Amino acid sequence: MRPLAELEARRAAALLFDIDDTLTTRGRLTAGAYAALERLKHAGKRVVAVTGRPAGWCDHIARMWPVDAVVGENGAFYFAFAQGRLEKRFQDDALVRAAKRAQLEAIAKAILAAVPGCAIASDQPYRETDLAIDYCEDVPPLPLEAAERVAALMREAGLTARVSSIHVNGWFGAYDKLAMTRRLFAERFGQDLDAANREAVFVGDSPNDAPMFGFFEKSVGVANVRRFAAQLAAAPKYVTQRTSGAGFEELVYHLLK
Ligand SMILES: [Mg+2]
Repeated sequence: MRPLAELEARRAAALLFDIDDTLTTRGRLTAGAYAALERLKHAGKRVVAVTGRPAGWCDHIARMWPVDAVVGENGAFYFAFAQGRLEKRFQDDALVRAAKRAQLEAIAKAILAAVPGCAIASDQPYRETDLAIDYCEDVPPLPLEAAERVAALMREAGLTARVSSIHVNGWFGAYDKLAMTRRLFAERFGQDLDAANREAVFVGDSPNDAPMFGFFEKSVGVANVRRFAAQLAAAPKYVTQRTSGAGFEELVYHLLK
């Protein structure tokens, strides 16, 4: 990972960002990080949140935050708000989502029994597609090995599993943050993501961001990404000096320089 100062910022036209522990700091959205986001949007950049957070949260974010769109539940959908209307595009239709959701309950029970100390995430009721197991948000923090164990159990049950800084998410299907971002760019922005790669910057902090770290030439980790160094399938190309929201601010002001 190279220092952020070496990132060529001049042609950056879009910022895609993870939320937890990238934009937010220990579970809070600071005024500084939000102001940075707003300044970037006002500067005419394309701004897209790419998160594991649930549909309920993403509805709010797409409507109210200074963003062009949000990819949620690790790539199960994107939401975009324009001309007073919220457009929702899902990977699976409503019937398929309901059928998949019905199978997640039994898997969740087996995981809770097998890994002491974890819990169903408090944002689970607002999810449309996936199962979120909390290992580090509302429960006393568990070691990363416990998160890996949860992910392994999910995979044994036929789910795709990804570890974020707070949850382990599992879902039926091969999609991820990158696949839905590709679709968002094609459908909403009329851009092929391969062609847009050089003008886009992605910032994240944890293993569920690895597909984005690997794909984007200008992928950035906030400094706390080092916590997951051993678990990253692909590392970001650049790293900030500061952690979480302060690292996000550092990146935005580098892009606006
Ligand atoms: Mg994160």
